[in-house]
Formats: sequence, C-alpha cells, structure tokens
Amino acid sequence: MSAPVLVINSGSSSIKYQLVDGDTLEASTSGVIERIGQSESILTHRHAGEKHERRERFADHAAGLEAMVAAFQEHGTPLAGSGLIAVAHRVVHGGERFVQPVVIDDEVEQAVERLSALAPLHNPANLEGIRVARKLFPRLPQVAVFDTAFHATVPERAHLYAVPAAWREEHGVRRYGFHGTSHAYVSRKAAELLGKSPKAVNVIVAHLGNGASVTAVERGRSIDTSMGLTPLEGLVMGTRSGDIDPAIVFHMHRQTGASFEDLDAALNKDSGMLALTGEIDMRAVERAAEGGDRAAQVALEIYCYRIRKYIGSYIAALGGADAIAFTAGIGENSAEVRAGALGSLVALGVQLDEAANAAGGPIISTPDSPITVMVVPTNEEGEIARQTANLLQS
Ligand code: AMP
Repeated sequence: MSAPVLVINSGSSSIKYQLVDGDTLEASTSGVIERIGQSESILTHRHAGEKHERRERFADHAAGLEAMVAAFQEHGTPLAGSGLIAVAHRVVHGGERFVQPVVIDDEVEQAVERLSALAPLHNPANLEGIRVARKLFPRLPQVAVFDTAFHATVPERAHLYAVPAAWREEHGVRRYGFHGTSHAYVSRKAAELLGKSPKAVNVIVAHLGNGASVTAVERGRSIDTSMGLTPLEGLVMGTRSGDIDPAIVFHMHRQTGASFEDLDAALNKDSGMLALTGEIDMRAVERAAEGGDRAAQVALEIYCYRIRKYIGSYIAALGGADAIAFTAGIGENSAEVRAGALGSLVALGVQLDEAANAAGGPIISTPDSPITVMVVPTNEEGEIARQTANLLQS
C-alpha cells in the first residue's frame, strides 16, 4: 500500500471501518462494530477473505475503536506497522463552510459540532468517532470528508428555497445534498466507462440504498440533487418519506397533537417503504410483490415513479445527459427497480437492454441508446481515502 488510510464511518451505535489505499482505492481490511452500548456488541473484522467475529459489550465508541485496533493486531497488519498516512472520517453535514476535505483540529471539531443543528441525527455520531480517534491516534492527521461537499457547486436556482430571508440568512436553510462521495465517485467512473473525461460528459447518478438520492452532474460538477437541507427530501427511501407537501406536518400536528420530534421521527424512521409495505429491505418488498401482495406492488410503482420523475427532470436540467448510472444496494442489485425507474423514458433517449439489465451490466442500454445506462458499484470509503490522500499529498 502506498497511501494507506483508515476510513471511519461512525454512527450512533455502530462504527464501520476500512483500511483503504488512497491511490488504488482497494481495501485490504474492513469491519463493523455494531450495538455499541448495548448488553452485547459485535465486532466483525474482515481480512484476506476471512471473517473474524468478537461478541462482548463495548460500552462506548472508545471501547469499540480499541477493539478494532486489537482486531488489526490479531488478524493481518497491525495498524502501527501499516504506514498509515491518516485517519479519515465521513462527516454527513459540512454546511456552507466545508466544501473540501479538511485536516481536523479543535476549531474544525467545534465547527462540526455547531453543524449538528442541521444534522442532529448524524453529525453528533460522526463527531464522537472523531473525538475518540484523535485520542487513540494522536500523531496521525485526522481528516474530515463531508457528504455535502460535492454539491457545493449546485447553483442558486437549484439550492435556494423560496422561504423567508431570515430562514436562509440566519438559519442556513438551503439545499445541501448528501451522498456526495458516492455521486463524485460514480460519476467519474461513468465517464471512464464512456471512455471520456468527466469534464466532457453529463451524468445522472441514482444512488439507491437504504437512503437514496439522484444527482445531476454537469461536466464533473453537481448542479442539482434530490436531497435538501437534510437527507429527508427527494426519493422514497427505506424509512424516509422523501418529497411530501410540507403542510402535512402542520396538518398532523393540529390533528393529533404530535410533537415536532414525533413528526420528525415519523417521516425519517417510520415512513418510506416501511410505511407502505411493512418492510425496509427491498428484497423482501420484491418477494412480496412477486407473491401477489398488492401493497408491495403499489409501493414498488411509487418507488420507481419517483426516481423516474427525478431522472426526467434532470435530463431537462442538464439539457441532455450522456449517461445514467445506478449505484448502491438497490441500484446495483435490482434489475426490476432499474427497469421500473426507466420505464417510460424511451422518448427522452433511454433504451434499456433487458438481457443486459438482468445480467447486471455494467452497460445495460442498447448500443444505439442515445443515453448510456449503466450499473456502477459505489466505493464511498475508497473515494474518502482518495480525497484524503490528495489533500495530504497536495
Ligand atoms: P445500501 O444502503 O447501499 O447498503 O443498500 C441497502 C439496500 O439494498 C437494502 O434496502 C437492501 O434490501 C437492498 N438490496 C441489497 N441487495 C439487493 C438485491 N439483490 N435486490 C434488491 N435490493 C437489494
């Protein structure tokens, strides 16, 4: 490895990690620590094709990361001898300030903490990982890579909401967009598949995982994206509603007396495919639909129709697209969702090759399709490592 980076994605009760080469973007080791703080936590460590599991209670993120260091020591390369150039942290919200990766110091840490107001479900958990890792690896540069940063190029016409000036000017209300490292990586790979420079092509990326967003990338720059101030806007997701009339919130508050915290949780955690079908996992939804479950069939239609509307509007926003790239758990694996999402876009230049779509690509459109459709596996950790290595080597 010439530029090994330890990439950490810290959630409220879990930490994912990968040791990635910032030059080749290959991961030699990966793992996840789950159920931190519960009676039994699980560490799953993968190295050289082998999986090692450790089950015991890790009381907090510090105990979890210490167990990760021990796992590296026991299986494969001890971190101390791996020539690490940095620890890189995925941070969900960078606000208007962080439009590039940044080396973390006390001031950056405080700024990320202030941004928790915009991402209360994510930034505090990211920050916990940063604090613990700074103590555990005091001599290594710690770098924050922001999910919002790739969308800093979205112009005013797409990032401003028509809301009172004080909301925008005093409270940071605007579209930020998320999944930026994935959209950056996949749009670059899509250009590679077309055999062109990213600066020569327009690409629409549909990142369809548990969270989901679509981005219009014009010559390498994000010019619009479906998530907004928070990851709630846009597509129907596993547990998030995506776009709704905002007045529904006031209506339900008046009707039921539910607090704004309850309504926030309802739209982020109890909506989306879960609310429509009782299932979060798209595989379960597809199985139910195949088995004749009407609610699951309608939910799939809603899911695909929303994606189709975004793709159609982004073809218009870009004035034409060279490629549409599907990525993440659902985008990479569900031929049915991809076909459903592209269904009626033939008039806009999308001709799906059904056999290629069923086989999983990478190219899933016909050779004469004006827009090339592709499946591109995302690599968010690889992109975080690449950006970190670039920052430190520049
Ligand atoms: P991600 O957030 O990218 O890890 O994606 C998670 C989502 O991918 C879950 O909703 C899974 O159900 C979905 N997924 C994974 N594999 C498949 C598959 N073969 N078919 C449909 N959905 C899948």
